[in-house]
Amino acid sequence: MLKIYGTTQVYGIIGNPVSHSLSPAMHNAAFDACRLDKAYVAFPALDVAGAVAAIRNLGIAGVSVTIPHKQAVIPLLDSVDPVAARIGAVNTIVRRGQKLHGANTDWLGANQALAEALKLAGSTVLILGAGGSARAIGFGLREAGAKIILASRTAEKGRELARQLDCSWIPLKQAECQKADALINATSVGMSPNVDATPMPAAALVAFPVVMDIVYAPLQTRLLREAAAAGCHRIDGLAMLLYQGAAQFAIWTGREAPLEIMRRSLLAQLVGSK
Ligand code: NAP
Repeated sequence: MLKIYGTTQVYGIIGNPVSHSLSPAMHNAAFDACRLDKAYVAFPALDVAGAVAAIRNLGIAGVSVTIPHKQAVIPLLDSVDPVAARIGAVNTIVRRGQKLHGANTDWLGANQALAEALKLAGSTVLILGAGGSARAIGFGLREAGAKIILASRTAEKGRELARQLDCSWIPLKQAECQKADALINATSVGMSPNVDATPMPAAALVAFPVVMDIVYAPLQTRLLREAAAAGCHRIDGLAMLLYQGAAQFAIWTGREAPLEIMRRSLLAQLVGSK
């Protein structure tokens, strides 16, 4: 049971909206399980500069950063991890003395989730989508030495991300003719309420031994159900969410995250919200 004292270090999430976030329950469960004098709350923040000033002035120890502030927060920090700088997005801030440091754990979470099924170095991965998540995942896979093919709906945006990732781009409609070691859905296709949608025809899935969907609401997307029928190894959206959170916990505490506690918290929230 969480207890707040005068010594309690405060963590949180800044973004807009944040009331739906799964992070407060996940991180508080982890702090509680490790008996840490820390608490995590959601801060709805419209003004990112004001939010960072508040973090500095109120002595907040660390925050998660979510939409729409992941890019805009960067110039407001004292330092940023090199990979986060390359991605151009920060999802984690940690206080180091009087300084605020930015990191990105989305790519770490995605790499860890995929690495459970595949040796990343030298593998070819087809990423669907060219939004914020595809960007973090793409830069992360590059760090790990994977070869990337990017497929997305809007040509201009997709081509620009492919240029930055130094990989090839194809229109989403041509993705079904591809073959790769893994397929990652980094679009929002299949997300509730459009649960009958899928970004890839079922018949094309046999060309991908591993299929990962980062959509986590619902956890069993149509893409993953059809991937099961095609005999693919499947990774659901909870894995990336969990591992990015575990990496944040490690940054904030210097300790290994209690993964099972965090996984149970996420599952309870995702099943509870059905
Ligand atoms: P985003 O920046 O808005 O990007 C969305 C991407 O989806 C864009 O590339 C967009 O295409 C594409 N898209 C949307 N509707 C489409 C459609 N009908 N047909 C084809 N492409 C479509 O969003 P994001 O932040 O990357 O998030 C994407 C999904 O990942 C969301 O469902 C989110 O909940 C989930 N997510 C999961 C995790 C996790 O840890 N598991 C973390 C972050 C996000 P265009 O390129 O044409 O715009």
